[in-house]
Amino acid sequence: MRALVTSAPRTMELREVDAVAEPGPGEVLLGIDAVGICGSDFGLYKGTHPYAQFPQVQGHEFCGTVRALGPGCEGTHAVGTRVAVEPLLPCGHCYPCSVGRGNCCMELRILGVHTPGGLQDELVVPERLLHDADGLDAPAAAFAEPMSIALQGLVRAQVVEGDTVLVLGAGPIGQAAIIAARALGARAAASDLVPERLERATAVGAELVFDAAGDVPDALGEWTHGVGPTVVVDATGAPVAIRRAVDLVSFAGRVVVIGLSSQEVSLPIVPFTRKEISILGSRNSVGIFGDAVRIVRDHPDEVARLITHEIALEDVPETIELAMAHPEIVEKAIVRMAA
Ligand SMILES: [Zn+2]
Ligand SMILES: [Zn+2]
Repeated sequence: MRALVTSAPRTMELREVDAVAEPGPGEVLLGIDAVGICGSDFGLYKGTHPYAQFPQVQGHEFCGTVRALGPGCEGTHAVGTRVAVEPLLPCGHCYPCSVGRGNCCMELRILGVHTPGGLQDELVVPERLLHDADGLDAPAAAFAEPMSIALQGLVRAQVVEGDTVLVLGAGPIGQAAIIAARALGARAAASDLVPERLERATAVGAELVFDAAGDVPDALGEWTHGVGPTVVVDATGAPVAIRRAVDLVSFAGRVVVIGLSSQEVSLPIVPFTRKEISILGSRNSVGIFGDAVRIVRDHPDEVARLITHEIALEDVPETIELAMAHPEIVEKAIVRMAA
């Protein structure tokens, strides 16, 4: 079978490798159908990501078709069923795991980051990671993973009907947050530096968009009836964005940081108490992956607008280079594996 191996920084090789082993107890053999290429994949490819290792098969956003069940499987997903994979392998015994938050496990391993991922024809995974995606087109099913990241942020911020959610950063996670916020009955606005991304944000349901490089428009105040957004989602990891989130969020509001960077941010102390704001980190997801699949299923047109590039396995390195250089061109690239 084929595997796309990241063998050194900025080097991916399409190799012919041995077929994978039979699935063990509680495991299933998947034929991989589609794999999303993510911002974190850029860092793994370049070798700048803290967990980059070589050689590795990347791909943590993927779906497949069940080909075989190992002994002791419950069989909830029959052979021939399309499934989306929740790519997390928590240790099960650390403190976060003990309180039901394996998404931030202290020893967390992620398929396609710490262990081989989806950029190959077949993969054996634990049955418990599977979520039914039957009837979904493969690229849409692969988009369930980034949708789960966005939804986790909104769950952390306790978004409910009537909330006004400002999303900072209209990359794939920010766009997914717009779709998910609306699915929860909230309203959404967005800012970004890239005009094309703002156009897509409008297309997937943002009621107000603005250039992140400029001043915050008066229209944001009108949009929130003068109180400010009740929830601000940072999907950038940029210090200026997180600082802006604290300034803009309403009294009793929530700021949730999904974006990643190695930078630091300084924050004014008074608003914490005066506005009694909550500032929350959000990582991966827990207990909501099935809901993310459902949101993708319910919003086929919006999801399709975000998948700007459907590519073949051998096109991944050049597409990553294109995406890094041209975020205005590439919103989400997804590999559709050969049938
Ligand atoms: Zn991702
Ligand atoms: Zn753990």
